[in-house]
Amino acid sequence: MMAQQTADVIVIGGGITGTSAAYQLALRGYRVTLLEKSYLAAGGTGRTVGLVRQHYSNEITARMALRSLQVWRDFEQAVGGDVGWVQTGALFIVGPHDLEGLKANIALQRQVGINTEFLDAQAVQALAPYLNVEDIGGGAYEPDSGCADGVMATNAYASRAKDLGATILQGVEVTAIRSAGGRITGVKTSQGDYSAPVVINAAGPWGARLALGVGYETPVEVSRHQVAVFQRPEGLASQHPFIGDFVQGFYLRPETGRLTLSGSLEASEAANKVDPDHYAETVDMEFNIEMAEFTEHRVPAMSEAEIRKGWAGLYDVTPDWHPILGRMPGLEGFICAYGWSGSGFKMAPVVGEMIADLVTGEKLCPIDPHLFRFERFAEGDLVRGRYSYSIIG
Ligand SMILES: Cc1cc2nc3c(=O)[nH]c(=O)nc-3n(C[C@H](O)[C@H](O)[C@H](O)COP(=O)(O)OP(=O)(O)OC[C@H]3O[C@@H](n4cnc5c(N)ncnc54)[C@H](O)[C@@H]3O)c2cc1C
Repeated sequence: MMAQQTADVIVIGGGITGTSAAYQLALRGYRVTLLEKSYLAAGGTGRTVGLVRQHYSNEITARMALRSLQVWRDFEQAVGGDVGWVQTGALFIVGPHDLEGLKANIALQRQVGINTEFLDAQAVQALAPYLNVEDIGGGAYEPDSGCADGVMATNAYASRAKDLGATILQGVEVTAIRSAGGRITGVKTSQGDYSAPVVINAAGPWGARLALGVGYETPVEVSRHQVAVFQRPEGLASQHPFIGDFVQGFYLRPETGRLTLSGSLEASEAANKVDPDHYAETVDMEFNIEMAEFTEHRVPAMSEAEIRKGWAGLYDVTPDWHPILGRMPGLEGFICAYGWSGSGFKMAPVVGEMIADLVTGEKLCPIDPHLFRFERFAEGDLVRGRYSYSIIG
């Protein structure tokens, strides 16, 4: 069949990664067509908790988080549109045996310019008097961090991309990636063929399946991750920072309406492997109860909280919990950007820039994606964080 439409670049997937990439490419004058099989933010992005933190233990990811935070905080000016940004601050607490690692991470983060500080248990208590600190060694506090809304952010990027001339199509499923003579030629879709010399696979949990169609076995497992939602009792603080509790392996994230979202920080959650097209999208009662128990231990006054609702979403997890982001070897014009392993939302502003650099060959973004190349798995050169206390990189 003749290709319906030609573009410089086709982006597969209308989540936060695909829309940020489409925006950055349109900004650089490229003709971009983004194809989304259902609707914008239908994947992991629509179910995200939306935390934008900077607590990373690798210099590259810490720099990426900081550069992205600067966009989230000032999105209206930097990109345009409302992403529901709320500066909550973020507090990460660890047990005594993880203090050394925490302090080393804080030093690394401060070195790259992140506003973070070490708090001993007493200082944590002073910051958040409602916390039980009896079993913690200390914490890292980032006052500038906060949360944004996945659906609002995706739509903001998409609409800015459209303003700049990008074509954003929903309800169009890519059924195959086309190539000839070692080069990308376009895609086949549920609504005909599209041609372009560059295809960006930003299909999140569905990305590995699409790559397999052109011969790449990317090591990505899809797993189900739940979020429990509690309503705080009246009288408890009207707001609280994001709290990452590495003693119990869970988090608390404030939401409007006196709500608090809660979920796991344990790598073992990735064992809940699912088919991304058929999985339970609601929260299990046992999960609600487990999170309620952790919450009550950390914030005793939450024993009066009510369970309100919850949901489950998908992570696309790689063996080292870092993404595959780069040009794929042996197929000119094929770029993969998935495998975010539960951490892809906050990074989207800088990832859009990195993808645009990969396409254009420019170096407008100061961060090199080499660390995330697909070849690292075969080379045994996995990305390692410096600490062992959690999955968060
Ligand atoms: C419960 C939960 C909490 C999270 N909390 C955080 C957090 O606090 N902070 C953070 O940074 N990250 C968080 N994450 C992770 C983050 O949300 C994801 O890493 C990020 O949203 C992934 O975005 P994406 O665009 O890469 O993928 P997705 O949002 O999954 O988008 C992929 C899109 O591709 C489309 N698609 C798939 N196949 C095709 C096809 N063949 N043709 C066309 N379109 C296709 C899908 O419909 C989908 O819309 C969380 C995730 C979950 C599930």
